[in-house]
Amino acid sequence: MTETRYGANYWLDDCGDDMARRPPLVRDETVDVAILGGGFSGLWTAYFLLRANPGLSVAVFEKHFCGHGASGRNGGWCSPRYPMLVDELVKHFGADAACATIRAQHAIVDDIGAIISEEGIDAHFTPGGMLSIARTANQLTSLKATYATYDRLGLTADTTMLSADEARGLIAASNILGGMKTRSGASIHPLRLVRGLAQAVERRGGTIYEGTAVTQVRPGRPAMLETMGGVVTARAAVVLAGEAYLSQIPAYHRQLLPMSSMIVATAPLDDATWDAIGWQGYESLSSGAYTKDYLTRTRDGRILFGSRGAPYLFGSAMPETALAQAALYGPIINTLRAWFPALNAVPVTHAWGGYLGVPRDGLPSVHYDAASGLANAFGYTGRGVATTALAGRALAGLIAGVPAFVPNLPMLHAPGPKWEIEPLRWIGVRYIQNAFARIDAADFRDGSVPLDSGLAKTLAPI
Ligand SMILES: Cc1cc2nc3c(=O)[nH]c(=O)nc-3n(C[C@H](O)[C@H](O)[C@H](O)COP(=O)(O)OP(=O)(O)OC[C@H]3O[C@@H](n4cnc5c(N)ncnc54)[C@H](O)[C@@H]3O)c2cc1C
Repeated sequence: MTETRYGANYWLDDCGDDMARRPPLVRDETVDVAILGGGFSGLWTAYFLLRANPGLSVAVFEKHFCGHGASGRNGGWCSPRYPMLVDELVKHFGADAACATIRAQHAIVDDIGAIISEEGIDAHFTPGGMLSIARTANQLTSLKATYATYDRLGLTADTTMLSADEARGLIAASNILGGMKTRSGASIHPLRLVRGLAQAVERRGGTIYEGTAVTQVRPGRPAMLETMGGVVTARAAVVLAGEAYLSQIPAYHRQLLPMSSMIVATAPLDDATWDAIGWQGYESLSSGAYTKDYLTRTRDGRILFGSRGAPYLFGSAMPETALAQAALYGPIINTLRAWFPALNAVPVTHAWGGYLGVPRDGLPSVHYDAASGLANAFGYTGRGVATTALAGRALAGLIAGVPAFVPNLPMLHAPGPKWEIEPLRWIGVRYIQNAFARIDAADFRDGSVPLDSGLAKTLAPI
């Protein structure tokens, strides 16, 4: 059987790009807008800035290569689901703001599809929608509760609850008790989208420096970025779009918590296996597990199975080596095969992980402070593929003064509270990770609920 390559990102093997590095910065530079980070947040911000104002000088400074971070490694869900759950949005911001947010999130999925086609990006955009399935009675109860909230808010026009048989008709996974299908949503090849977006930014006059690590951020008029290759002066704004990796810059260490998520990819399945599994609609598929199961069918016939990742490391450390440990992937591969026993003999070819940024209050932050020259777009937890485009467009609108780009949404606020200092952070996060694993295990064992599940859910930011 083919060996699993641990630490190997499937998307990189299929990115249709020679991955030639762009030159690094080797001198001091002055631009209108300087962007830290060549992921979706940084590139969408650059793209919309240049679309709104082609005369602007915009440069992106990326430590490794565009798509090195979560943007080039994720599960490929271009999803209408917002980082903060709809119930939480209602609780914190009211029904109107929650509805506006969900509608904006739905619309941005369509906008991304349109831009991909306009810019000629071969990102495998496949508008199959979303399919959430319940695999335990408790998961079915929460799925019904989610649907009820959407219904109360008048947001069910494109969403349908499915009986167990209806859901099984779409996908032959084990233990299906019911489902919810949403028409909006697409699967994409995330790395192809990042790479294509980077080229679109360059076609519109932006400059991208790769292999250029920002070492310090200096607020002020003008704000500046210190890099290994030179100092960058930004006449209008410095944009912080480093998501989880910002935690490695001392001034932002406690702003976002780096949390890993991990994915395994099967070899391409043969036609008989696909006939047995179904999934002809290419929906972005998930269950209601607290430890998260997210699945994607790729264009070349693989199944990607993603799950919450490795234990949080003390001091917000985020080494690549932690994402390549075979032992961490065993339980994910077992879960994949429990979902689809037909895959027992199918090799798992790739297993990789990435780091996403979790804000303490669970809410993405998009902000521009003209006084300090600093702007930011970050904090998507695990739901950034579509949200980064919404954030990037809003941030471009704030910086370039384009009100049409700036929706009145709760994401427009200054960065939220910082995470606790260590060892409190480690103790709290490890406790929540452990509790969520226990909640899922008890649910699958006998449908019971651990005594501390309420406490764990209250402590978790999302
Ligand atoms: C395994 C995994 C699966 C996921 N699945 C999904 C999914 O299916 N759907 C979904 O909606 N979301 C998903 N997410 C979340 C989503 O990928 C992210 O929210 C999104 O990509 C964030 O984009 P970003 O540009 O803000 O950050 P990143 O893509 O992390 O980009 C930050 C960039 O900044 C660079 N950088 C960092 N520090 C510096 C520095 N000092 N100097 C210069 N450059 C620097 C990094 O190298 C990196 O390229 C997933 C995340 C992971 C990790």
